[in-house]
Amino acid sequence: DAPKVTEADPTAQALGYKEDATKVDKAKWAKYAAGQDCGNCSFYQGKAGDAWAPCPMFGGKQVSGKGWCSAYNKKA
Ligand code: SF4
Repeated sequence: DAPKVTEADPTAQALGYKEDATKVDKAKWAKYAAGQDCGNCSFYQGKAGDAWAPCPMFGGKQVSGKGWCSAYNKKA
């Protein structure tokens, strides 16, 4: 499996990625809305319910299904 993104990763810092979407800095990321997470983002490369899956925003490293970053785009 691809390595997991950590919150200390420079890209994670730039995009405000958190492994737990509820811990997102809402003051900084006003676009965040409750209920959004990687698991329902169009970029998430996993199946529904996968705990971790690759994300192209992080060069294919794995992100947490319960995570979030500012590149979030709701899955259609
Ligand atoms: Fe999660 Fe989507 Fe951001 Fe990737 S782009 S880290 S799947 S919110």
